[in-house]
Amino acid sequence: AATDAPAELTDGYHLVVDALKMNGVETVYGVVGIPVTDLARLAQAEGIRYIGFRHESNAGHAAAIAGYLTQKPGIALTVSAPGFLNGLVALANATTNCFPMVQISGSSERHLVDLKQGDYEEMDQLAAAQPFVKAAYRVSRVEDIGRGIARALRTAVSGRPGGVYLDIPAAVLGSVMDKEAGAGTLSRLVDPAPRQLPAPEAVDRAIDLLANAERPLVVLGKGAAYAQADDKVRTFIESTGIPYVPMSMAKGLLPDDHPQSVATARSLALKKADVVMLVGARLNWLLNHGERGWNPDAKFIQIDIEAKEMDSNQPISAPLVGDIESVLDQLADRTKPGQIAAPAAWREELAARSAQNVAKMAKRLEADPHPMQFMGALKAVRDVVHQHPDTYIVNEGANTLDIARNVIDMHHPRRRLDSGTWGVMGIGMGYAIAAAVESGGAPVVAIEGDSAFGFSGMEIETICRYHLPVITVIMNNGGVYRGDEVIGEGPAPTTLMSAARHDRMIEAFGGTGYRATTPAEVTAALSEAIAAGGPALIDCVIDPSAGTESGHIAHLNPKGITAGN
Ligand code: ADP
Ligand code: MG
Repeated sequence: AATDAPAELTDGYHLVVDALKMNGVETVYGVVGIPVTDLARLAQAEGIRYIGFRHESNAGHAAAIAGYLTQKPGIALTVSAPGFLNGLVALANATTNCFPMVQISGSSERHLVDLKQGDYEEMDQLAAAQPFVKAAYRVSRVEDIGRGIARALRTAVSGRPGGVYLDIPAAVLGSVMDKEAGAGTLSRLVDPAPRQLPAPEAVDRAIDLLANAERPLVVLGKGAAYAQADDKVRTFIESTGIPYVPMSMAKGLLPDDHPQSVATARSLALKKADVVMLVGARLNWLLNHGERGWNPDAKFIQIDIEAKEMDSNQPISAPLVGDIESVLDQLADRTKPGQIAAPAAWREELAARSAQNVAKMAKRLEADPHPMQFMGALKAVRDVVHQHPDTYIVNEGANTLDIARNVIDMHHPRRRLDSGTWGVMGIGMGYAIAAAVESGGAPVVAIEGDSAFGFSGMEIETICRYHLPVITVIMNNGGVYRGDEVIGEGPAPTTLMSAARHDRMIEAFGGTGYRATTPAEVTAALSEAIAAGGPALIDCVIDPSAGTESGHIAHLNPKGITAGN
């Protein structure tokens, strides 16, 4: 009889995929293996785009930056123990940078792990993840998969975004349950990142400070870029006339050639500003903790979604806790017409310094020495990229990062992706791949030091396999910082192979390789590669003696009695 028909069944794999799809997850970045291979297969079969990497850190970095670009948690999929740990580097980096990301990892048999019986890839992953993430959860029963995924996604993206770890043991993935009952365990998140409004008196306090400032300054950080309140940021800046400095990943939030940008008079702006409004920017090491180089009497206003960020370095005179869009709405609503207006004398002082510095820089950019220096190669990159202002720029390395940041203007929001809050090396190919996946066809140019490239270089195979429009440009000076150091016999600690032909690596995978020894060759190669739209790599041969130790942050190297510096 019909009533005796076997019940339709589902399993952990299907419930994970169904829960992700129900919550709008379109892409998963990962590396397969026991116990998640079938999970990746099923995800792809069910219409989720799966991008398979060569190393979990890179998959994780891709997920993290996808989260930054889309305001939806990027998903990284990893195998147990070692794969999980590789991914954890990226998850910790995502947390540090406030990018929403969920690392879903398979894990080994709980009863064996917990009694330390020595299972295949045995590790207590939940405990291991805990210190590095915003939250870590484990699903122990198949009927909790929907709840676990909902919880992980909401935690990653609400409030201050960050990295979340979700542990799913192999046995749970393989568990079977009634299909209809299983469907009943899933849910779609309602309002996963709710708006947060500041109290009116907090808004008025900030307006009061700005209205009475003689030398107001706005610092735009990558939290402001993440918020995607681009028009409101622009309206606030333009209606008040306040000069602003963009942090590196906030470049392009307003176009870098905006008349109120004082990026080129940064030192003077920090030294003299009397009221500073931080918008999605932390007063951390990247801003010298508000100390070295700052006006000691400056008063700070801070817009941040994280209440406990306030006073982390300097006293905050007017905390504005909330999401940037809501806070800017409130500021606009409560400001009387003309109440906030940056004094002309201050704007002119900064503009004059800016003009001086731009002229100095133009002189340096004009020089065209041979062998090629960082500046010459990066100017060539800039000239091509400025013709394609929708280009995504990924940037890491020491000198490569410092110089490219200053030389290459950005004209669109969220187009510059770099080493971020940790100043980390190794994000290059992961960020580039996710940018290509999320960008809808815009070119991606990854500008890499030769050392930085090495951390993720194998992913050029991934780039070629998926035919992504990523062009990797390597500043090859044959070393970490520089390539000409000699200490006794054998390569010095900072030395890499200056004769390396990175261009031939990509040819092995069917991409196009270029070798450039002059800026003109860089220009030609990059123009051609962007027009072709396919995977390419340009190895720029830079003078091995070019480059300074640790770039702009050499002061962070401790100095002992043995160091000659
Ligand atoms: P940068 O390195 O560019 O200075 P940080 O990463 O230090 O930027 O700071 C970004 C800040 O933005 C973090 O403190 C984070 O809490 C905050 N933030 C992120 N998203 C939002 C948002 N939607 N609204 C308000 N603040 C946000
Ligand atoms: Mg180098």
